[in-house]
Amino acid sequence: MQDFYSLLEIDRSATVDQISTAIDEQYDKWRRLTSHHDAQLQNQANQALFQIEQARNTLLDLTKKGPYDVELGAGGIADPDAIHQHSGLHSPLTPLRSPISSTALERTDAWVCNSCKKANPIGSIHCQQCGRSVGQICVKCDTTSPATAKFCLSCGVNLAELKTQIEQDAIDREIYWQQQQKLRAEQEVRLAPMRETAESAQKWQRIGCATSIFFGIFGLPFVIYSLRRSKAVLDSQHQPGDESIREMAKTARTWSIVAAVLIVSMTAFTFAVFVLPLLMVLIGAGLEGL
Ligand SMILES: [Zn+2]
Ligand SMILES: [Zn+2]
Repeated sequence: MQDFYSLLEIDRSATVDQISTAIDEQYDKWRRLTSHHDAQLQNQANQALFQIEQARNTLLDLTKKGPYDVELGAGGIADPDAIHQHSGLHSPLTPLRSPISSTALERTDAWVCNSCKKANPIGSIHCQQCGRSVGQICVKCDTTSPATAKFCLSCGVNLAELKTQIEQDAIDREIYWQQQQKLRAEQEVRLAPMRETAESAQKWQRIGCATSIFFGIFGLPFVIYSLRRSKAVLDSQHQPGDESIREMAKTARTWSIVAAVLIVSMTAFTFAVFVLPLLMVLIGAGLEGL
């Protein structure tokens, strides 16, 4: 004769904590056997897990435990027909007749809806009659377990904890993302003056180069101004996130230096080749006239 207490190998006077611990221990023990090479033993293990779930639903629910204990005291709990129905092993696998509910605790071939008591095929997610949840999918191994199960029937993970963990992770990610957004926005504000200076260095470097192509030395002041701007950026104190701005200032500085060297050397060249001979000719002519 098996009742929930002998199934869990505990005394009928066991406390809630003791019952809870026994359920977890038994669950753990049988869960390991669900992957046993002996198919019959696997089947037994699956049924044991289901009964342990039933025991949990009854013994940890005070509204159900009381009537169950009364019924148990009066005898006639176990189903004599079902004893050793599945195997020769004496085990806590014989289906139990529950004194509490006519269907919910009796059926091991169906998942019974807690709400409308309809027996749904094992593996159902929703009740076929009322649509309430009768099964839950384990996010770890994708197996469906009864909605009331504390642990995944397949991988044994604590489903409620896993769900809480996943929800918490999602919340954490959201908070992290919002913090990052805020930090980025603050950084943008902090770096705005620096970015402006770097952009002006870039702008004046371009104006300087364009001017010097047509007007030679007249582009030089713009180029020098750009150099001063980029120097201001590069000399300023390093700030987090300012890498791209420094890169921009560095590029502007490089091109300004190249432009300045070209402008000066082209001017010197022009002076040496055209202006100097002309001056010498004029001076020569002037001297001859004396
Ligand atoms: Zn239902
Ligand atoms: Zn699982």
